[in-house]
Amino acid sequence: MPRPERAFRTQGIILKRRDMNEADRLLTVLTPDHGKIDVIAKGARKPTSRSTGHVELYTRVDLLVHRGREIGVAAQAEMLEPYLRLREDLQRGAYANYAVELLDRFTGDSEEAGNRLFTLLEQTLARLCSEKEARLVMRYYEIHLLDLVGFRPELFQCVEGHEELQPEEQYFSYVSGGVVCPRHTSGSAALVRLPLTILKLLRHIQRSPFAQVKALQINGALHDDAERLILGYITYLLERKLQSVEFIHRIRR
Ligand SMILES: [Zn+2]
Repeated sequence: MPRPERAFRTQGIILKRRDMNEADRLLTVLTPDHGKIDVIAKGARKPTSRSTGHVELYTRVDLLVHRGREIGVAAQAEMLEPYLRLREDLQRGAYANYAVELLDRFTGDSEEAGNRLFTLLEQTLARLCSEKEARLVMRYYEIHLLDLVGFRPELFQCVEGHEELQPEEQYFSYVSGGVVCPRHTSGSAALVRLPLTILKLLRHIQRSPFAQVKALQINGALHDDAERLILGYITYLLERKLQSVEFIHRIRR
């Protein structure tokens, strides 16, 4: 069996950053080929550290990682893209924070879709810097992230009867992860109303490239409704996920 290389070089986006010991930092980094990894940035909290001193959240860096027995050590970190606008604009910075936190919470270690996740996050941070309509950037990110982590919302079939949806007002089921038509609502709990305009917007976002999505003209009320629906679904999924993690810990004890 070939021995794993002792060191590797990789691009990465910083998802999480915690202080460690007196001088070090523990970084959670999303990479294209190694998935999500934790690495120690030695001496990163010293203001004079030149090798790994500038690892800020949601920056893209080039890392040289030495494999440790349990955890890698970042020997070098070179800034590739600071996404400056996200540091200057409070609202856009908050979106970027939310984007990396969401990705961190939805993924485990050594995620299969690492490469596509990395591309999606990298494009999203760049778009948050360049695009006029940040809310469309975020909806596009959420819908495609859910897809990559296995929670693609079903928007074309009724999740109860599996028939094709008619052009009429529908419902959305957080529990079933998709649209429920008005004829199949009796068996489903906790449904939210899904007007046709929101359904059309979500479908468009799900199946179109961003270049087409960004051309949409959307009024504020529709933005608010779409945001509320997706956030509701994401919150439901994360709470369920947290509960299952808690359950695993409980039965281990
Ligand atoms: Zn149905």
